[in-house]
Amino acid sequence: MQRVSTDLACKDCGSTVTSSDRFCPACGTPNSSSKFHPNFGPTVKRFEPKIVSDLAEPGSPSCPRCHRLIERPDEFCRACGMELGPAWARYQRVHILHTWRQNNRWTMARYQSAQPMGVALQVILFLGISVATVVGIVDCWLLARSNGTLRTGPSSAALLQTRDAAEVVAAGLVIVGGLVLVSWMRRAYGNLPALAVGDLRFSSWVVAGWLVPGINLIRPKQIMDDLWRASHPLAPPFSSSWRLGPGPVWGHIWWWGLLLGSAIGLAGHTLIATNAARSVSEPADLQVGLFVSGLASFLLAIAAMALLVLVQQVGDRQDERAHLVESETPAAYAAEMAADQLAAELRGSMAPVFGTPVPSPLVHHGDERETYGRY
Ligand SMILES: [Zn+2]
Ligand SMILES: [Zn+2]
Repeated sequence: MQRVSTDLACKDCGSTVTSSDRFCPACGTPNSSSKFHPNFGPTVKRFEPKIVSDLAEPGSPSCPRCHRLIERPDEFCRACGMELGPAWARYQRVHILHTWRQNNRWTMARYQSAQPMGVALQVILFLGISVATVVGIVDCWLLARSNGTLRTGPSSAALLQTRDAAEVVAAGLVIVGGLVLVSWMRRAYGNLPALAVGDLRFSSWVVAGWLVPGINLIRPKQIMDDLWRASHPLAPPFSSSWRLGPGPVWGHIWWWGLLLGSAIGLAGHTLIATNAARSVSEPADLQVGLFVSGLASFLLAIAAMALLVLVQQVGDRQDERAHLVESETPAAYAAEMAADQLAAELRGSMAPVFGTPVPSPLVHHGDERETYGRY
């Protein structure tokens, strides 16, 4: 339907409106109690509701609730007053993705879900959490014994043996887990271009970020944060707006837990090793060593748990985004809209337009909407 220009304005913001608009497209004010008034001529006295079924052509931008055609720069639906931000974002997404697919039909990077690798990593992390917890508990036990309590159970030598074995297993898990983690990050980061994400800053840093001394104290966390943010299913395609969002809380827990746990663990390990060699000549030092090592074990276990959650979240977000990027086509948009309209028509819930004046004998009757005023 072609909108007719009538000289009407919104009383609140002064925007031009038409007689069939139930809400102001600029400020969302409803057209009740004669809020919309003619720019010229006397104010209309009588108002009666009029039902219009004002459907947009499938494929053209439309209000998701009442399916009326929407036009730039409308911020509110003229028929039902719905805020149009998400509707515009979606319409734009469909078209940007369509153009992108058309232009890159042959060179498009393929999306490969990071989930299988993520599951392998999660299994390793789960084992790591178990081992770190065992080390932490044994440390606490030995610490209690050095204070003269908790004498029951296995001998201290057996506990120390368990602890050594657990540390060997932990070292193996750290090496294998580290390799799998870096591979997973490469896969997940490599997916971003296929997920229509632009403005990537660390493409060449995913592996190097772990290796370059100094930089590896912060870069892996930045990459993980970017992975999490950029994989947001609804982040607009090829916009850098994804960078503005907050990073994941789990990212902080993972990274600072890992750094702090590693540093403390290294110190504790050295203390215990030196004191064991000196056959517990200074029990106070051994106690400090055990305490520090136990603390480190629990910190590392928490860090591993946070990483486990992050890996799951990033994998889920990427899968969801991949599905969206694939399914948001103009054809799908139009089909969905047609189905919605049909459903709405069957329900009989097309947006009624109230507040338009009754036809006047002085206005030509050819067009129903040209009913405004006696001027
Ligand atoms: Zn207004
Ligand atoms: Zn609407």
